[in-house]
Amino acid sequence: MAPTAPWKSGVLFGVKTAPLTKHLAFPAAGVAGVLLLSCMAAPPSSVLAFDGGRVLAADPTEAEQVEDLLARLQPELLGLLPDTAFEDLDVWIQDTPSLYSNPTEASTDAEGLWSPTHQRIMLSRHADHIERTLAHELTHAALGESWGMLPGSMEEGLADHVSGALCESGASRLRAGRLSSACLATGGVSLQVDVMPRSDQARTGWSAAIRLKGEAEGTDPMDVFRLAAGLSSTRLESGAKRGFYGLAYLAVSRIVDRDGYEGLQALCLRATEQGLSQVPSSWILDAAGLDADATSWRRAAAGAMGEAELLELVRMYPSFISDSIEGYLSSTGASPDVIANLEVEIGLREGTAQVRLSQLPELQEQLIADLTSRQVDTLQVASAHR
Ligand SMILES: [Zn+2]
Repeated sequence: MAPTAPWKSGVLFGVKTAPLTKHLAFPAAGVAGVLLLSCMAAPPSSVLAFDGGRVLAADPTEAEQVEDLLARLQPELLGLLPDTAFEDLDVWIQDTPSLYSNPTEASTDAEGLWSPTHQRIMLSRHADHIERTLAHELTHAALGESWGMLPGSMEEGLADHVSGALCESGASRLRAGRLSSACLATGGVSLQVDVMPRSDQARTGWSAAIRLKGEAEGTDPMDVFRLAAGLSSTRLESGAKRGFYGLAYLAVSRIVDRDGYEGLQALCLRATEQGLSQVPSSWILDAAGLDADATSWRRAAAGAMGEAELLELVRMYPSFISDSIEGYLSSTGASPDVIANLEVEIGLREGTAQVRLSQLPELQEQLIADLTSRQVDTLQVASAHR
């Protein structure tokens, strides 16, 4: 069984735009040792009690907004997932979600936390999508005993999947973040980018095969069943952690697509019946149609991305578009004032989704204005074509 820990991290390293090369410094000392020296955080000042718990926030308006979310999410979650129930719980709204007054570095980019010991959810008021983060933490809070059979990081995949199902407005952003993280951990996201003028009769264009690479490249996907990436006691670099959240999300979504949440829970019940300590990884691979090889995970993740997810991916990592436009300019010798008339087509080389930059007019304008930024480590193979 996984070791128990004081809290689980939530929509961690979510889908906010961060350079792929970002490297967080984690404390050299064990997190548990750091926590022992920390003081408990003071509760937020405004308290709103309701049937089923309390919301503690900065002011009554903020507390009521979160209570409204709870009133919708809790019954929907119970209707969606078998073997779930809520005890009375507290939801604290904080700038940085933490049990302690001095958050450790390992937790400072978590947008939500769940402490089973305190029956408390801690949410960042600055979360990318506060409703989705709350739904993720509520999933941890509601899961009954049978779900404890899920190995490694799989519970994080389940909490993410449920949050996407309950919060449609944030779902494609979540899917894009998690599926791209799964690809980045297992070899990268391979894209085909074509740049060409919209009104040039000759249609002289520029093409590139681009691979977005992450620092977690080379992850053994089977580690998703061994490591509990969401536990505060699990020390992982941010890229690796993000990768495991992505891999867990991918496996859960493939099982739920085929057999529903009931099918996933059936694996837990069968493992219990057979006296196992957790669901064997081979059962999850079979149910998800995956194998132990990283290639099967990467292709599955790329194949699961549709147009909405690919557009989100472009929003998250726009610098590869800038690079491509610069590549077009330098290979054709065109002057920069043609940029506004260029179309950029982006396709997944291991998937079917295809989008155009003009589908994101705001980003297109921003890129035209800012073509010098370079954030993504890319591998480019360029060739002019006609
Ligand atoms: Zn979580």
